[in-house]
Amino acid sequence: MAMKGDAYLKCIDPNCGCDYDIDSTNVQCEKGHLLDVKYKCRPSEKLKEIFYQRRNSQGNIFNESGVWRFRELLNFCQIDTENIEECSKYLVSLDGAEGRQSKPYQMTKAAEFAGLESNNMWLQPEGYNPSGSFKDNGMATAVTHAKMVNAKKIVCASTGNTSASAGMFAANEGINCDVYIPAGQIAPGKLSQAYQFGAQIVEVDGNFDDALKQSLDDAHNHDGYTVNSVNPFRIEGQKTIPFRALEYLNWEVPDWIVYPGGALGNTSSCGKALMELYEWGWIKKIPRIAVINSEGASTLSDLYNGKFEDEELRWNKGNPNTELISRYYDYLDKEGLRPKTKATAIQIGRPANILKGLRALEFTNGVATTVSDSEMLDGMSVVGLNGFDCEMASGASVVGIKKLISEEIIKKDDIVVGILTGRQKDAMIPVDYHSNPANKFAKPPKN
Ligand SMILES: [Zn+2]
Repeated sequence: MAMKGDAYLKCIDPNCGCDYDIDSTNVQCEKGHLLDVKYKCRPSEKLKEIFYQRRNSQGNIFNESGVWRFRELLNFCQIDTENIEECSKYLVSLDGAEGRQSKPYQMTKAAEFAGLESNNMWLQPEGYNPSGSFKDNGMATAVTHAKMVNAKKIVCASTGNTSASAGMFAANEGINCDVYIPAGQIAPGKLSQAYQFGAQIVEVDGNFDDALKQSLDDAHNHDGYTVNSVNPFRIEGQKTIPFRALEYLNWEVPDWIVYPGGALGNTSSCGKALMELYEWGWIKKIPRIAVINSEGASTLSDLYNGKFEDEELRWNKGNPNTELISRYYDYLDKEGLRPKTKATAIQIGRPANILKGLRALEFTNGVATTVSDSEMLDGMSVVGLNGFDCEMASGASVVGIKKLISEEIIKKDDIVVGILTGRQKDAMIPVDYHSNPANKFAKPPKN
């Protein structure tokens, strides 16, 4: 059973070492570094059997939930996890639906396209979450923490999946939600879910970075609670994405876990999950993480692969060259280079979690690469031909696997899990793709 004082927040910078109480709402340390949720206890491996048994939920929503089924591994509320009344009092859930339907599937046509045996490739559709993306995993935990600290309002900067998820959870919990966006730059359709769930849209003069900055300031000064992925509690919920993948593979660790790369919250949470499981002795092998950027928003891939100033940026045991990152951002500003891809979910030039992402890549001997928009569309489309729905950014996982196989970085007999991060929310993307017979999987209309 959890003890009070077991969970706390700690700065990720080993040279800094600030720590904070678990009910702090700081999203960074006083020197501006990201924070981790840390646990003093070491969960027993016997929990594997308990997690398995909970898949027969017997009407308990916290067992039904693909997030809270693993609640011992994210028990920052420090509750008695077997006591359902305590769970109901603290844990925020969309009636058990977050993460419930997401698990890895074999998709024959996608595997054939990528160049792997069908038995060796798994794709996990996180779009089958209630708001249509992986964000619900981390929003369940972030909003749980918001309630724990009595926040009356949650706040995010988002032009898509985050705002949809935050709005849905806020509506369910009866709390307010403010969504900050750059004025005049966002197609209103992108925000239709946020409007639908009653979120308050706040327009900010400037670009997305300005909107994020103002949302963080307003959260800080006006009692809002930030639910962007800089919030370390978001990362806790997103750990359940690899937990579910590993559990469905009977905790037999794959060789690779592949994610599209945006703000790098997923990379960070996968890395943290693997670090913890390895430290606890639950896994003996560490899968490698591959992050797939869009060519038009390739900050991580550029820096990691030494394409800027010929230096390969690394976590370097907690001493990353942050000056290199600053110079890269200055260069983007100076050249007027803005992230540009039709896969808007990963159209991010300044990944908020880049340092946690680098830490994850270092721990897992990971790789980063890029794919083009047209390749992502092929990846998205071949997933569709298996009867699964995903958004364009998710196509990056499939086509990224294909690229890494062709470069012999992923070997043909490796076991690979790719994460499909979200569901199709832009109806015209598949329509346009299939209207052009030049596209690989196009099936144009007949007349
Ligand atoms: Zn610090």
